[in-house]
Amino acid sequence: MHAWMRFWLGESCRLCSAGLLPMESGICTGCLGVLPFAWMRNSLSVVENEKEHINMPIRSWLLFSEHNAVRTLIHRIKYQSDAHLAFDLGCAMAKDFRSDASMVWPDVWIPVPLHAKRRRQRGYNQSEMLAKGLASVGGGRIDTQSLIRQLHSESQTKNSRKGRAENVQQAFLCTRSKPPGMPLKIALVDDVITTGSTLKSCCMALNRSGFTQVEAWTLACSGWLD
Ligand SMILES: [Zn+2]
Repeated sequence: MHAWMRFWLGESCRLCSAGLLPMESGICTGCLGVLPFAWMRNSLSVVENEKEHINMPIRSWLLFSEHNAVRTLIHRIKYQSDAHLAFDLGCAMAKDFRSDASMVWPDVWIPVPLHAKRRRQRGYNQSEMLAKGLASVGGGRIDTQSLIRQLHSESQTKNSRKGRAENVQQAFLCTRSKPPGMPLKIALVDDVITTGSTLKSCCMALNRSGFTQVEAWTLACSGWLD
């Protein structure tokens, strides 16, 4: 929806409930100013699996540190059907990360998929809405077909850290192979990183299909779901 339309509809800030101005989206400038942006926007890690000979460097991008206000926003996009806010937060991610000199914009966005049953319950995939926000600011194709979730685990919020890691090991499948000779930078998009096991599992699935240039773009990190 156009920003002016949302203004006339009287959209309010998701954190302080103040009316939003036309140039604001989702969160007012005052609240945005006090949100804890991650002190380290990006970091490099390696996804390894000896048995499958996978050794894959992954650059991870993170917008927010852990904070109560961030928790409120995540809760809204996950459990309160606030798809608009997820889109707005995707735009905020894009604007912040683009200011980083080391940023090379991805070609393809792959939102971490929800199982079909969970998606039906929620009505949308919040990570897909984040990806739409990202693509609207900087471009790139959104691919919701290539990576699928095979297993429907119990709600991740109820499982232990170890249980979650085991659950998601084989949870994802990449349904297509990388076309030969085509350099393609993929960014996985997720709302929250907790143990990192979901993103690792996605990376491994993509790697098995020949995609090796993969980044992970996440809105927030969290220990609060434990
Ligand atoms: Zn506010």
